[in-house]
Amino acid sequence: MQPQSPRSLHGAPVESESHNMVSQVPALPQSYAPGTDSVFSDQSGFYSLDSNVPGLSKVILNKLNMKDYGEYRTAVEGKAQGISFRNYKEMFQKMEDTFKFCTGCNKLPEHLAEGQTLKRCVKCLNVYYCTKECQKKDWPQHKKVCKLLRLVAIDRLVEWLMFTGDLPFPTEKWSKSAAGVKNWDDWLSMQGDLTPRLDAILSGADMASLWKNVSRPRPDESDLQQSLWRLQSEFLSRVLTVGMAMKHFGLDPYAKPLTIHLAGASHNETMGARITDYDELSYMFPGHQGIEIVMVGPEVVDGPIVRPPLSAFGPKHTVYINAYKSLYHQFWEELVEKEEAAKPDLVVGFHPGFHANQGLIEGWLPTLLLLRDYNIPSFFTMYSEMELKCSLQILLELEMHIRDSGANPFSSQKPEQVQACPNKMPVYYNAHYVCFHGLLPQEGVQEPRPGS
Ligand SMILES: [Zn+2]
Ligand SMILES: [Zn+2]
Repeated sequence: MQPQSPRSLHGAPVESESHNMVSQVPALPQSYAPGTDSVFSDQSGFYSLDSNVPGLSKVILNKLNMKDYGEYRTAVEGKAQGISFRNYKEMFQKMEDTFKFCTGCNKLPEHLAEGQTLKRCVKCLNVYYCTKECQKKDWPQHKKVCKLLRLVAIDRLVEWLMFTGDLPFPTEKWSKSAAGVKNWDDWLSMQGDLTPRLDAILSGADMASLWKNVSRPRPDESDLQQSLWRLQSEFLSRVLTVGMAMKHFGLDPYAKPLTIHLAGASHNETMGARITDYDELSYMFPGHQGIEIVMVGPEVVDGPIVRPPLSAFGPKHTVYINAYKSLYHQFWEELVEKEEAAKPDLVVGFHPGFHANQGLIEGWLPTLLLLRDYNIPSFFTMYSEMELKCSLQILLELEMHIRDSGANPFSSQKPEQVQACPNKMPVYYNAHYVCFHGLLPQEGVQEPRPGS
């Protein structure tokens, strides 16, 4: 196994063996194929990289002739010299171009005969075909996902509003106890009517400018409302999953301040993150003693949350967020062991992806052993049941004491498309979870100690 860069070893969501993208990207020219240090993220449907933007992939940055998010940002702000797109219209166009290949035969626009163009499926406005024949041949597969892909195509544009600040929309204080909120329906029942909040976004300037600049008509209002909810659910899924993990381990934020580490935090969680992102926890546990969220991962993106972790107790009644760019076990050695960061009461990992291949397991191994040997309550999420199964297998081999696993009631509601294989069934962020704590207790006979 080729040694991989730390970023691909740790924390990045990756495709599992069963849908190994690396072997299935003939649709993309060589320059866009993943290198040894890139992993496919089906969370955003993109190759993951250090600097990323929601809705902007390495593929897209390549298309835009940009190396990273910083360059992209300067271009958007009009400060760049030699800008490779002049306006949002051009940018959205180039983003859409990355989806332009024949879903039937993988042909790219440049492989088409003179005068021929790729035609988009009129139902989902998401996938393309070179000819009627290709579309006809592909329909038995595509018809299973066409309806979902229609939503995906809307969401990947509306996701822009997460970036402009229109999303997430404000939420209400909880009228039920944390124990009484077991799923999205329970959460939604405390929110009252979402319509005014959604309508404010729908009638906003950013929403208008979005549909003015993209190459498709504005969907109807109910489609957009539902898309806004799906994107909000993805954002909240992280917070509520942390809250659920706290409940699972019986952590009491009223008894003492709590420190929660997010191991393997990726660009998806840290790009554009604001210090208020986990405030929903204060609605969940009103009047708590203080909760510190520390995001640790090699993909952590610079921003307001990159500030030093707390060495002791955090401020009361407040959720304090910070982030540290490092592999988790290195962070532990550099800060936790030197008591420059508080020891965690809980470690949560969103899509660690260590099941995907040997290299990733090796990258995560020091972290997994550390969590086991320091007896840290741990809670990890996965995209699919298959990923969950593979992860459980690995954790059992490490003799982890598995406490629980299953479907996450706070799974994201936003379907994720596998960009290069659009006919694959979309998956959902945080769909499954496993929680484990310490070493599996030995049953029956006790091993005689050497020398006794
Ligand atoms: Zn074709
Ligand atoms: Zn379709």
